[in-house]
Amino acid sequence: MAGFVRKRVLVTGGAGFLGSHLCERLLALGHDVLCVDNYFTGTKDNIASLMGSPNFEVMRHDISMPLMVEVDEIFNLACPASPRHYQYDPVQTLKTSVLGAIHVLGIARRTGARVFQASTSEVYGDPDVHPQTEDYRGNVNPLGPRACYDEGKRCAETLFFDHRRKHGTSIKVVRIFNTYGPRMHPEDGRVVSNFITQALRGDDITLYGDGSQTRAFCFVSDMIEGFVRMMDTPDEVTGPVNLGNPHEITVRELAERILRITGSRSKLVFAPLPQDDPTQRCPDIGRARALLGWEPRVALEDGLERTVVFFARLFDRNRD
Ligand code: NAD
Ligand code: UDP
Repeated sequence: MAGFVRKRVLVTGGAGFLGSHLCERLLALGHDVLCVDNYFTGTKDNIASLMGSPNFEVMRHDISMPLMVEVDEIFNLACPASPRHYQYDPVQTLKTSVLGAIHVLGIARRTGARVFQASTSEVYGDPDVHPQTEDYRGNVNPLGPRACYDEGKRCAETLFFDHRRKHGTSIKVVRIFNTYGPRMHPEDGRVVSNFITQALRGDDITLYGDGSQTRAFCFVSDMIEGFVRMMDTPDEVTGPVNLGNPHEITVRELAERILRITGSRSKLVFAPLPQDDPTQRCPDIGRARALLGWEPRVALEDGLERTVVFFARLFDRNRD
């Protein structure tokens, strides 16, 4: 390949939903990939198809502990992402975000590697600016049940920008908005996985609150394209850059679409809205368009259909 430079790339959280798709993409591009994961929410199944590749290596390790590896680039994705998982052990969630950032930035400082941080739209909390632009500073409740995740990710961003200022580290920070697709964890409690699994099993569809809260859902392949483009930007592009699909819908509309796609007869039922649940969320992706020439291509209908196929196969396999 003319001009191609094979890199040694560390992906923390590489056995998770986004991480496994990213490892797959990096291998397809010809890179040497080291996946580091403690399997808290990730699984060996997610990376099973990559195991045969001579360019793929896996290390079981908790990123809240120091790590010594020699690499050219780092994608830092390790962190549980769904409220159910990140609230299971909130102190560990904070350690993963904060100590994890310190450790990957330490590797970057020692080796000169470029380092990417998977930050989140949750840094905006329950936003009073809509849609959210990167210069909005957010409305996070630092004492609430979501704070271990939100504040951990905010602190990680701070650490990234301090390393940039103090040590000239090459950093790339993206703020990811709700992303869905094959390899989501069926028990993660997130809205897309919950509604699809409930619809496929014929269980009630649980709308929290009155279902009028909004989200904007990005298909996983679009998100991974955004990651790769961001990593390849010139050094002066640090972010933060919002990545997400700006097509905003209510949670109730999402449920109705999933019922249509699956042909399920499940009933909609209402359950209490969790504390601090953001009422509206939608990215402004002007910066990603300008800097990366990126925007999502997969329509919600197509992405949901592909995700339904994934869960239907998973359930068939588990029945066998
Ligand atoms: P995921 O839970 O599927 O993946 C996280 C991975 O990190 C898992 O494989 C898990 O085992 C691993 N992990 C967790 N703690 C670890 C630790 N201490 N040491 C090593 N590995 C650890 O979640 P995901 O949806 O793939 O999210 C990946 C990243 O993207 C996360 O950092 C998340 O905060 C961010 N993000 C995701 C979304 C989304 O909608 N999926 C939105 C915003 C941000
Ligand atoms: N939600 C819901 N029913 C569910 C799961 C989630 O109504 O079974 C709602 C949740 O209250 C939130 C939205 O769907 O308003 C998205 O929730 P999710 O946990 O997927 O992600 P969040 O964007 O809140 O981190």
